[in-house]
Amino acid sequence: MNYDYLILGSGIAGLYAALLAAQHGRTAVVTKGPIEESNTKYAQGGIAAAVGPGDSVTAHRNDTLAAGAGLCDPAAVDVLVREAPDRIRRLTELGVPFDSEEGQVALGREGAHSRARILHAGGDRTGDAIETVMVRRVREAGVEVFDRHAVTELRTRDGRVTGVEALDPTGRPVLFQATRTILATGGAGQLYTLTTNPSVATGDGVALAWRAGAVVRDMEFVQFHPTALALPGVPTFLLTEALRGEGAILRTPAGAGGGGRAFMPNYHPLGDLAPRDVVARAIATEMRRSGSDHVLLDITHADPDFIAARFPGVHQHCLRYELDITRAPAPVAPAAHYFMGGVYTDHWGRTTLPGLYACGEVASTGVHGANRLASNSLLETVVFAQRAVEASQRGDAPAAPPPDTTPLALPRLTAAPDRATLQSLLWSQAGIVRDPQGLADAAATIDAWGAPSAGVEGATLANMALVGRLIVQAASRRTESRGAHYRSDAPESDPNWRRHLSFVRPDPQ
Ligand SMILES: Cc1cc2nc3c(=O)[nH]c(=O)nc-3n(C[C@H](O)[C@H](O)[C@H](O)COP(=O)(O)OP(=O)(O)OC[C@H]3O[C@@H](n4cnc5c(N)ncnc54)[C@H](O)[C@@H]3O)c2cc1C
Repeated sequence: MNYDYLILGSGIAGLYAALLAAQHGRTAVVTKGPIEESNTKYAQGGIAAAVGPGDSVTAHRNDTLAAGAGLCDPAAVDVLVREAPDRIRRLTELGVPFDSEEGQVALGREGAHSRARILHAGGDRTGDAIETVMVRRVREAGVEVFDRHAVTELRTRDGRVTGVEALDPTGRPVLFQATRTILATGGAGQLYTLTTNPSVATGDGVALAWRAGAVVRDMEFVQFHPTALALPGVPTFLLTEALRGEGAILRTPAGAGGGGRAFMPNYHPLGDLAPRDVVARAIATEMRRSGSDHVLLDITHADPDFIAARFPGVHQHCLRYELDITRAPAPVAPAAHYFMGGVYTDHWGRTTLPGLYACGEVASTGVHGANRLASNSLLETVVFAQRAVEASQRGDAPAAPPPDTTPLALPRLTAAPDRATLQSLLWSQAGIVRDPQGLADAAATIDAWGAPSAGVEGATLANMALVGRLIVQAASRRTESRGAHYRSDAPESDPNWRRHLSFVRPDPQ
């Protein structure tokens, strides 16, 4: 099968890119699960853009740079915040039903934003609303969709990406050829025991690009969301940060030396709206201190009708487990949520390989630095998906590798024995708090694993082991704490480390 554009993944990045690409030639989307299954579908809080009265792209820029803890690429952030209002306009034209109040777009507030600037849809069902619209538009545009097709390898000729190998729903190999391939395979939350990400988020895109010889960057920066629902026996489910934006308070668990105490003011001047890494570590500290597996998120002081209308998804989900958040605080704990690092791209979505572009969570564009500002990720997907398609129309030049790139030889292709083993290894040794011994043990364990088995899960376990190994490698090298990367042996930021770690394999095939 021959295409002008092959898009890998069907979250917002892939579908937005596919819609644009279809204007220029024959386009196919190849995606691992059902078309809607993606991190996008589960996004709750919304999408950030400086569109409200009293807001400005400068304020949005400054908040983004502050959250990124010195590692954002300021030029990439400029692109992000400047192009945000136009991308929101386009999403609205496509039919995304952003919520409004008294005829004006409704804007929520989230952690580390100095203004209310989060557009949302269906209350806290923003991602589902976006994904539904984008799936419809892509089908209307005549894009060919191969769902339940897992891409297992990028094909290259003379260093250029020329298509992919995939496994179809029966496990049969299928080849796709393309002039241009756009990687939009999303994040890697599934590498950790507790995660808000669905089962398709296994870091495949980073592994595919790495094996093909692309540069990856910022692999040590994994964002843990502070507040995932922690009810015994209930799957991890995000309780959006917008709850704290509407006044929810984090409290110590009952019975822990006078439970019910609001603790965030002790950790940061912004209290409950401090940056995510600060809140996640504060919760982990309070959990350790109390010996509990959770803390409490309390919104019981707010008007119950407002909470039910503003957060219908969260409210109804909790009711299913007999928890009414308007009457009782919710038990919460941190969970792996967002992958800041990924496949290095320039400001035009170009990777270091000709013929290969990347956008969305799989890409490292430089907008998030060491920590993502809430609701900037949906925005990043559309800004850079559009740029990737535009750049691909202008020519073929790949991005130059960043100056800090170092070749990294990894022992050999290993695969995790099963997901749970890898997840608990990374959770305990390369999670919210890291130390040199734990990281060295994790590296040795992964290096000793066996070779991958056949089939989609075999390929996935190999990808997860590879991405996990890259996270461990980067986290071992960065001997400081910055943003989402925290080392107990080096708890402060070191100005000498105000630089990136970028790796490339020395022997691409
Ligand atoms: C619970 C939750 C809430 C969130 N809330 C917000 C929010 O409020 N605001 C915000 O800005 N961000 C939020 N985020 C983050 C945001 O949703 C994601 O970063 C964004 O949706 C990523 O979009 P994407 O298109 O890059 O990837 P995804 O939406 O994850 O799509 C990736 C696609 O790639 C496919 N894929 C993966 N591997 C392969 C393979 N080997 N072969 C073929 N296809 C493959 C997947 O099946 C999927 O279709 C949230 C994330 C979660 C999980």
